[in-house]
Amino acid sequence: MKNNDLSVSFSDTKPLVALTLLLTGVLLLIFIFGCKTTKEVVAPVTTDDGLITFNFLQLNDVYEIAPLENGTVGGMARVATLRKRLTNENPNTLTVLAGDFLSPSLIGTIKKDGKRIKGAQMVEVMNVTGIDLVTFGNHEFDIKEQELQDRINESKFTWLGTSVRRINTKTGRTSKFYQETDSTLNYVPDTWVWEISDEDGTSIRVGFFGATLDMNQVDYVEYLDVTSTCLEAVQTLSLQTDVVIGLTHLNVAEDLELAAKLPQVPLLMGGHDHHHIREKVGSTLVTKADANAKTAYVHTLVYNKNTRKTTVSSKLIDINDKVHSDEEVKSVVNKWKRIMDDNLTKVVDQPYAEIYYTKVPMDAREAVNRKEQTNVGRMINEAMMKVAKREVDLSFFNSGSIRIDDQLEGPITAVDVFRILPFGGPLVEIDIKGDLLKKVLNESKSRVGQGAYLQRKKVFYSDQKETWMVNGAPIEDEKEYHAITTDFLLKGIDLKTLHVNDPGITKTYRPDPDDRTDLRNNVILTFIDYLKGLPSERD
Ligand SMILES: [Zn+2]
Repeated sequence: MKNNDLSVSFSDTKPLVALTLLLTGVLLLIFIFGCKTTKEVVAPVTTDDGLITFNFLQLNDVYEIAPLENGTVGGMARVATLRKRLTNENPNTLTVLAGDFLSPSLIGTIKKDGKRIKGAQMVEVMNVTGIDLVTFGNHEFDIKEQELQDRINESKFTWLGTSVRRINTKTGRTSKFYQETDSTLNYVPDTWVWEISDEDGTSIRVGFFGATLDMNQVDYVEYLDVTSTCLEAVQTLSLQTDVVIGLTHLNVAEDLELAAKLPQVPLLMGGHDHHHIREKVGSTLVTKADANAKTAYVHTLVYNKNTRKTTVSSKLIDINDKVHSDEEVKSVVNKWKRIMDDNLTKVVDQPYAEIYYTKVPMDAREAVNRKEQTNVGRMINEAMMKVAKREVDLSFFNSGSIRIDDQLEGPITAVDVFRILPFGGPLVEIDIKGDLLKKVLNESKSRVGQGAYLQRKKVFYSDQKETWMVNGAPIEDEKEYHAITTDFLLKGIDLKTLHVNDPGITKTYRPDPDDRTDLRNNVILTFIDYLKGLPSERD
C-alpha cells in the first residue's frame, strides 16, 4: 500500500516538487541504509506481511438435512448461510464435516426410483451447501459397498481416507477408496493440501489428514492403525506444507491420545461424540460440534510464515432459527422432505398427527442411552413385550438403534418414532440358555458408551448377589429363558456373544413377513402402537 501511495503523489505533483521529493527520498534512503539493517528497509516496500488468516467451518455427525425440534435448531440451509457469510468476509474459508453423515436417517431408509436413498439426500445437500472436505465416519459403512461407492461418486467434496481401505468383496483385493466417473478413477487421498493466499500475497499450503475409528466392522472395509498412519501422514505433510490439520472421527479419548503424539498439529477437528467438546493437549486443540448441526465450530487461524507459528481462535456457533435459511439449499431439503412424506404415508396414515403427548421428556440422547437405562429404552422394551406372542421373561435391544439423539417433549408423532428408530426392522422371540444369556448381558455391560450397550427390561444386575437377575432369581446356566429382541442383534454384528446360530439359542420365533397384522415385523410400528395405547399427558 505504501508503494502505491508514493506513486500517486508523484503523478499528482508539479515536476519541481517531484524532483525535490525524489532527492529527499534518495537522501533519506542513504541515511536509512547507513543506520539500519537491510531487513528493516525491505519491509515497507514488500507487500507480503508473512501473516495469513483463514477459517474452518466445522460440522460433524450430521444425519438430518432439515431443522429439528419444531424447526428451532440445526438445518443445512442455515449452515449454508453461515458459510456464505464467512466466505464473504474471508474467501480462505474451508467447510469440513468430520464424518458420520450418510447414515442413519429416516429419509435414507426410504426408496426412490426402486433404490434406497441411503445418504443420497445428504450428499446432494452437502454439495449445494458447499462442504469442501470430509473424513469417513463409522456410519459411512452402515450402507452397502455399492451404495457407498455411489455416494462417493456423487460427491463434489473431497474425502480423506487416511486410515481406511476398501476391500473389493468380489476380488478380495484391497485398495484406497476411489471416486469413479465415466472417464476417470481418482483415489480418495490419505492427505490433502489446501493452497491459499491473501490480498497482500502471503501464500501457504495447509495439509490435512483424516482418521476413522474401527468400530464398524464390515466386510468391505479394512482399518489401518490410526496412530501410525496419522504419524506417517503428518510426517509426509510436514515436508510439503506450512501447517498440518487433522479431520478425525474418533472417540474423544483417542483424539486426545493422538493430539498428545502430534504437538506440531495445532488443531484436530473431530466427530463421533455427539456433544460439543473443546480440549487442549499441549498446544493441540481438539474440537467437536454438536450433532445434527445444532452447533458448528468456526475456527479462525492465523499463520505467521516468519515464526512458523499458528494461532487458533474457536467459536461455537448456535445454528438456530435466528440464522436465515439459504433459499437454494432449502429448496433441495424440501424436495427430499416431500419424498419422505410421500413414503411415510404409505406406512402410517397421518405421519404428523399426534399419537402421544408427554410432559416428561423422552430421553433419546445417545450419550445417555449408551450408558444407562432410560425411559425411552424402557418404553421400547415394553412395546416389544406387548407384541410378543407369549409372555417373555425379558426383553432387550441395542441402544445404538436409538438414533435421534434428542429429548422429545410435548406432542409425539409417528415421524418422531421413525426418527428415534430409523433402522426399523423385525423383532424375534428366542429361547436362550441361561449361560449364553449371562455372557450376552456381561458383554453389554462391558460395552458402556457404545451402541452395543443394551436397553433391557425385566432383567437387572444385582451388585449384592453379583449376578444377573430374571423374575427375581439369579439366571441359571442350564435354564431356558424366553426373550424378545431385534433381528439385528441376532446377526452378531453388535454383540459378539449373540448370534442366531449359537447353540445357546435353542429356538427362534419369527413373524411372518406377509402378515401385516403382526407388529413384530417392524419395531417402528410396534412402538407407534404402544405410544397410541398410553394415556396422553395432555391436561
Ligand atoms: Zn461416529
